[in-house]
Amino acid sequence: MKSVAIIGSGFSGLSAAAFIQKNGYQATIYEKNEQIGGRARSFRAKGYTFDMGPSWYWMPDVFERFYQSFGKTTSDLYQLKRLSPSYRVIFNEDEHVDLPSNKEELYELFESIEPGSAVHLKDFLQEAQYKYEVGINQFVMMPSLSFTEFLRADILKGFFKLQLVTSIESHIRSKFKSPKLRSILEFPSLFLGATPKKTPALYSLMNYADMELGTWYPMGGMAKIGEGMNSIAEELGVSIKTNSGVEKIEVSPSKKGSIYVNGSKIEADAIISSADYHHTEQHLLNKTSQSYSEKYWDSRELAPSALIFYLGVNKKVKNLLHHNLFFDEDFNEHAKELYTTPKWPEKPLFYACVPSKTDPEVAPDGKENIFILIPLAADLKESEELKQKYLELVIKRMEKYTKDSIMEFIEYQRAFCVSDFKSEYNSFKGNAYGLANTLKQTAFLKPKIKSKRVNNLFYTGQLTVPGPGVPPAIISGEVVANYVINQFNR
Ligand SMILES: Cc1cc2nc3c(=O)[nH]c(=O)nc-3n(C[C@H](O)[C@H](O)[C@H](O)COP(=O)(O)OP(=O)(O)OC[C@H]3O[C@@H](n4cnc5c(N)ncnc54)[C@H](O)[C@@H]3O)c2cc1C
Repeated sequence: MKSVAIIGSGFSGLSAAAFIQKNGYQATIYEKNEQIGGRARSFRAKGYTFDMGPSWYWMPDVFERFYQSFGKTTSDLYQLKRLSPSYRVIFNEDEHVDLPSNKEELYELFESIEPGSAVHLKDFLQEAQYKYEVGINQFVMMPSLSFTEFLRADILKGFFKLQLVTSIESHIRSKFKSPKLRSILEFPSLFLGATPKKTPALYSLMNYADMELGTWYPMGGMAKIGEGMNSIAEELGVSIKTNSGVEKIEVSPSKKGSIYVNGSKIEADAIISSADYHHTEQHLLNKTSQSYSEKYWDSRELAPSALIFYLGVNKKVKNLLHHNLFFDEDFNEHAKELYTTPKWPEKPLFYACVPSKTDPEVAPDGKENIFILIPLAADLKESEELKQKYLELVIKRMEKYTKDSIMEFIEYQRAFCVSDFKSEYNSFKGNAYGLANTLKQTAFLKPKIKSKRVNNLFYTGQLTVPGPGVPPAIISGEVVANYVINQFNR
C-alpha cells in the first residue's frame, strides 16, 4: 500500500487525506498543534466556545459535494441554519442595512436605496451565476500547472463573460451609483484579500454565493466542519497525529523527500504539505530543493493579517445581528494602510460576529459571545498597549452604534494578532488568509501544487490553487489528491 504523509490538519489537509485514503492509499496527517482544524480551530473559556478563524459559511454546495463524495450529507454531521437577514452593514451610528435572504426583498431594498438598481442587480447576479458555475464547477478543479489547461473550447467560448481583466470595482461602479450599494457589493471580494480595484470581476461569483446561495451557520460553531471532516477521515482509516510538527523534509539523491517528526525520519511515497507554502519551502527544505526564492515570496501580495478579539460579555447586547460589518469609516483610507503604506490603521473598518444571537450553545445563558476582526497589514509589529487601544476603539464605536454599554460587561477577553498567526500556524508574515486573489496571483499564476525540484512533494491550501477561504481549501485538498492519485496510477 502506497503511503502519503500530509503536513497540517487544516481543511485542505483533511480533505486531501480523505480523498487519498478513499482511493486505497494510507494517508497520515502530521499536525504541529494539539488540535486539528488549522485556522478554523475553536477554544473554550468561562463557558464560552469561540471559533478562532472563519465565521462565514458560504457556498454550502461545496461542503455538501465533499460530504457526498464519502456517502454522507451535511445533516449527518451538523445542523445547518440559513441566517435571515444574512448580515448587517453599518454605515454610521444611525444608519444600517440588513441584507435580506429573500431575493424579492433584496431587489426592493436595492430599489429603495437607488431607484432603477433592482434591474441592474438582476443582470449582475445573472452574470455572477455564470461565473460561479464555470469558476466553482470547472476552474477550481484544475491543477493549474499550466495555462494550456484553460485552452478548452468551452472555456474559450465564454472567456469574455468571465471578466478576468476588468476589476470588480469598475464592474460594480458601471452598474451602481449609490456608495452604499457599492460597498455592499464590494464587501464579498474583501474575503479574497485584495482591494476591489485589484480583484478581477470574475469574483462577482462571490456576490452570487452571498445573495443567491446565502449565509449559513453550522449549529455548535464553525469548528463543527473540521470535526465532521475529521470523523470522515478517521472512519476511512486516515491516521491523524497531533503535536507532531514536521521539522524537516530531507531530499535523497533520487530527489525523493522524507519528513522528520520529533526527530524521527518518516518515509512516504508522496508528501503533501498543507502548511503555509512559504514555511514548507523556506524552513523545511534546503535551498537547492526550493521551487521559489525568498525574493519571489517578498514580491507576492499577501492577504491581510488581523487583530482578533474573542470576548465573553456578561449580558445580551442590543442592536446587533449574528454578522455585523462596521463600514462606518472610509475604506479607501484603511485600504492604503493595509496595502500601500502598511501601518496600524487610524480608523479601521471592522467586523463583529455574535454567534450567540443564533446559537445558545456558544455562550452561557443571558450572555454574548463576540468575535471582532480588524484587518491589519501583514507583518506589523504589535504590543499589548496597541491591542488594548484597538479594543477600546472598536468597543466605543460599537457602543455608539448599539446605544448599549459593552466595555464594562466584558468578563473574558483574548486577543490574537500577527505574531500568533506566525507562532500558531507558521504563517508567512502572519497572513490570515494566504495570497491576495489579484489577477497576477490567480490560477496558474499561483504557487504550484507540485514541487519543481522534489519528485514526490506536493502542496495544497490557501497559498496555492484555488485560493483562500474554507470552500477553496476543501477543494484544494481534492485537487491535489486527484493529482497525486493520477501520478500513482501512471
Ligand atoms: C481570522 C480568519 C477569518 C476567516 N474567515 C473566513 C470565513 O469567514 N469564511 C471562509 O470561508 N474563510 C475564512 N477564512 C479563511 C479560511 O479559514 C482559510 O482559508 C482556511 O481555513 C485555510 O485552510 P488551510 O488548510 O489552507 O490552512 P490552515 O488552516 O492554516 O492549516 C494548515 C495547518 O498546518 C499546520 N502546520 C503548519 N506548519 C506545520 C508543520 N511544520 N508541521 C505540521 N503542521 C504544520 C498548522 O498548524 C495548520 O493546522 C478566515 C481565516 C482567518 C484566519
